[in-house]
Amino acid sequence: MNKGKNSDFEANAPAVVIVGTGLAGYTVARELRKLDSTVPLVLISEDDGCFYSKPTLSNALAMKKQASELAVSDARTMAAQLNARVLAHSVVERIDVERHEVVVGENTLQYRQLVLALGADARRIPVAGDGAADILSVNNLSDYAQFRGRLREAGSVAILGAGLIGCEFANDLALAGYRVSLLDPAAAPLSRLVPGTVGNALAAALGKHGVNLHLGTSVTEMTRTQQGYRLTCSNGESLSADLVLSAIGLAPRTGLAARAGIAIDNGVRTDAWCRTSAPDVFALGDCAAIDGKVQPYVLPIMHAARALARTLSGNETRVDFPVMPVTVKTPALPAVIVTPAGEGEWRVDGVESEASGVAAAALRAVCESPPDRKLLGFALLGQATAGKAELIKAMAAAPV
Ligand SMILES: Cc1cc2nc3c(=O)[nH]c(=O)nc-3n(C[C@H](O)[C@H](O)[C@H](O)COP(=O)(O)OP(=O)(O)OC[C@H]3O[C@@H](n4cnc5c(N)ncnc54)[C@H](O)[C@@H]3O)c2cc1C
Repeated sequence: MNKGKNSDFEANAPAVVIVGTGLAGYTVARELRKLDSTVPLVLISEDDGCFYSKPTLSNALAMKKQASELAVSDARTMAAQLNARVLAHSVVERIDVERHEVVVGENTLQYRQLVLALGADARRIPVAGDGAADILSVNNLSDYAQFRGRLREAGSVAILGAGLIGCEFANDLALAGYRVSLLDPAAAPLSRLVPGTVGNALAAALGKHGVNLHLGTSVTEMTRTQQGYRLTCSNGESLSADLVLSAIGLAPRTGLAARAGIAIDNGVRTDAWCRTSAPDVFALGDCAAIDGKVQPYVLPIMHAARALARTLSGNETRVDFPVMPVTVKTPALPAVIVTPAGEGEWRVDGVESEASGVAAAALRAVCESPPDRKLLGFALLGQATAGKAELIKAMAAAPV
């Protein structure tokens, strides 16, 4: 029985309830509907429930898209397409795993199965100064709308973090004519994904496209000036920018699950079937550590969603992740990366470096396990990205 003050929460039978309407939540819903056209389905989201492609946020300027043009479908359209109720602007505050209920304000909703697709929060670094509170981050469409609004009065942008998202924003903004500074404490971009040689090649290409890289340092203080901000770095350097964007990474959203007593291990912990430690509660997407691993990318989410939909419809299905490359959307030097699953040795070839007068036009790096030279991962840059299919095939043929 459902009780509550809002008729949106009234239902005849316990539903499959999905919390989150990002890629993870909506993909599970779509996949489930292909298998079961009648099960009551409710999606709950603290945002407006619009469906959009989050990866487009970091290359929307190049695509000449405004924030408002990135929303593909609104919540009503999604509800009609999915034959579901989509409860937008509704925050799930509590889960009662014993009673199989979620609590939204004064309303409760009973679930037969609950899917947590809660996403992640942007991490923040401690920065001193009266400007620090103005640091922006972009992890959803409304963040992006705010960022684009602020960009209208800006000529220069400093980006904190030269990971995948920081590099993509740097390239997009530089192409659109902004003066871009890209800062990272590591010695090269993409330091968590690839070895320094690969990151250096990308740094050279971004530099050629007008991005000012400040590597091996981080911002310690940010003060307001008449124009914008003055940033002081740990190495004593200082620079100015009209706008500061933080792209230092994401932390899986685990608070709701933790408060319900659900096990957390970096993300919401699940087994290889997306099952959490609570009965009938599942998790996937940026909030989840599936079988021990948080994989905050599109392809793992799509694979997990397909398997989970089968499980929800009664056909218990393990998520078997294939080789899943991540594409880095940096037109200055596009990259395709498969992060190694284990410890290995990187071998780099095919570099046409700055020394030869060309910023790496093609770079191929493979990571192999030392004893048997098994391929564990790779990074392909520029023209070398054409070799992606061959390497994926080699990895699939000899899984680790
Ligand atoms: C700028 C950018 C560029 C990217 N580019 C790429 C790329 O090129 N390739 C790639 O593979 N990946 C990329 N990614 C990563 C990829 O987009 C994400 O992994 C994916 O979109 C995450 O989807 P999600 O559904 O898990 O989370 P989200 O999209 O964050 O959705 C979380 C949902 O949960 C809801 N929610 C949270 N808590 C509650 C609550 N208590 N109550 C109700 N609702 C709640 C939110 O409202 C939201 O609807 C990029 C990410 C960013 C930020």
